[in-house]
Amino acid sequence: MQRDQMIQKLRERSATADPWDIVIIGGGATGMGVAVDAATRGFSVALVEAHDFGKGTSSRSTKLVHGGVRYLEQGNIPLVMSALKERGLLRQNAPHLVHDLAFVVPNYSWWEAPFYGIGLKLYDLLAGKYGFGRSTLLSKEETLAKLPALEPEGLLGGVVYYDGQFDDSRLLIHLAMTAADHGATVVNYCPATALLKDSEGYLNGVAARDGETGEEFTLHARVVVNATGVFTDSVRRLADPGLEPMMVTSQGIHLVFHRSFLAGDTALMVPRTSDGRVLFVIPWHGHAVAGTTDTPVDEPSLEPRPFEEEIEFVLETAGRYFTRPPSRADVLAVYVGLRPLVSTEGKGEGNTSTLSRDHVIHVDSSGLLTITGGKWTTYRHMAEDCVDHAITLGRLDDAPCDTKSLHIHGYAAEHPAAFPEHFSVYGSDAAAVANLAQGTSLAAQLDSALPYIAAEAVWAARNEMARNVEDVLARRTRALFLNARAACEMAEPVARLLAAEFNFGSDWIAAEVARFHALAAQYQVA
Ligand SMILES: Cc1cc2nc3c(=O)[nH]c(=O)nc-3n(C[C@H](O)[C@H](O)[C@H](O)COP(=O)(O)OP(=O)(O)OC[C@H]3O[C@@H](n4cnc5c(N)ncnc54)[C@H](O)[C@@H]3O)c2cc1C
Repeated sequence: MQRDQMIQKLRERSATADPWDIVIIGGGATGMGVAVDAATRGFSVALVEAHDFGKGTSSRSTKLVHGGVRYLEQGNIPLVMSALKERGLLRQNAPHLVHDLAFVVPNYSWWEAPFYGIGLKLYDLLAGKYGFGRSTLLSKEETLAKLPALEPEGLLGGVVYYDGQFDDSRLLIHLAMTAADHGATVVNYCPATALLKDSEGYLNGVAARDGETGEEFTLHARVVVNATGVFTDSVRRLADPGLEPMMVTSQGIHLVFHRSFLAGDTALMVPRTSDGRVLFVIPWHGHAVAGTTDTPVDEPSLEPRPFEEEIEFVLETAGRYFTRPPSRADVLAVYVGLRPLVSTEGKGEGNTSTLSRDHVIHVDSSGLLTITGGKWTTYRHMAEDCVDHAITLGRLDDAPCDTKSLHIHGYAAEHPAAFPEHFSVYGSDAAAVANLAQGTSLAAQLDSALPYIAAEAVWAARNEMARNVEDVLARRTRALFLNARAACEMAEPVARLLAAEFNFGSDWIAAEVARFHALAAQYQVA
């Protein structure tokens, strides 16, 4: 997957009046899912992403592939059932990126065991043949064996249940590679700047600009899909500035700690926080991730900042459950994501946690097809629904959806023990990454706090369309999300590796390192 080849394909098609079947705006989970679905049905597809793939919400999730125990509590059975099915399909199609995880709900009150025990049995039942394991009640001793760091005072027992966990931005990059493997043209750093209309005011294309060179493209299209998450309304308004907004935005933060705060391989689930939400503390890439919050925000931004109250809330809530409560000084990274929520009249004012997580497909009078809402877990189902609509809207030749059993790029059922453990996310590409490193200086670890090696930066530049230090450290590896200070230490060696790949000089290296340090400062807690 190489950017110059993708740009060349945009350029060649722009020079003709030959329309793409589908042009997608937005390279997060939603847009990339649509690209995979449409390309595997045989349609010609171009996807343009304003920044890097996954720069938006899709790299900032809780990392759960789940039905959503909380939605069960809200009584949204169809959403839970659909998500549980998608959870099963995703593990089947991307075993290198999705795995089972045990979650324990600790019980400190007598009623919690029967209450959560029954609820989680229902969760098992709804999963049916897509189940990940049966939930069971645990004694106090069994609970502590699974979560050794848990506060034993007042603990009565627990309930264990099973869900899925993944690496969100890695899955996104592998979806991009899957789309590319099937002929889609996917381009990062290429914002859509205008929507083009025919003489009757109906959309027939997208203007896009190469963010690196300024070159302009005209992408003629039979159907234009708007998959821009929290930026949905700004793209809709490119077609009609007077449109009423349909989105509401809420943010959620996560704090990342050393793995010792959790101890063991089991996640902690707090089913009801003081603001009525669910809080998780989960093991992820050798660290412990705690979150999340649900705070309404007025304006979407690409790099949302955590509110002080959110940091305090997560520290305080998680801290109650551990013998050694984490403090601010223990936070290795804080990251913030924005939920694209579809507004429903009267709801969501002040409490966005009650807004539906179902996805929505909306067609404006210009013919712009918007898909938004939903969850990472349900991206495949959302994409199927969207392409079905696109076929009708664009009068495309009907073709059946093929993604239920489609292996995601890198599919590998097992991770060979010969490769480092953290290479498992590359799946069948792990051998090629290891080959790059073999017997060369690229085998060097970039920082002692994290396992990443130099070869991964080079691999990302050559094969995964990483263009700068941030792409490598935030979304190809997860260094920035795991340990922001360590990521800063890695910035200069990564900049040097990329400069050698792209033929850039010392000015570029200095500018990249400075830019990354400024960004990483926002991922640290003072
Ligand atoms: C805190 C939090 C935790 C979550 N946890 C989970 C979880 O554990 N499991 C789960 O299943 N779901 C989870 N979700 C939900 C999930 O992450 C989102 O539903 C999903 O990532 C949304 O993807 P998207 O593609 O719609 O949006 P995004 O990922 O934001 O992608 C939209 C893209 O559009 C691009 N764009 C905007 N304007 C333009 C333009 N003019 N031209 C080109 N591109 C443009 C942006 O740059 C962006 O990359 C969580 C969400 C949040 C906020």
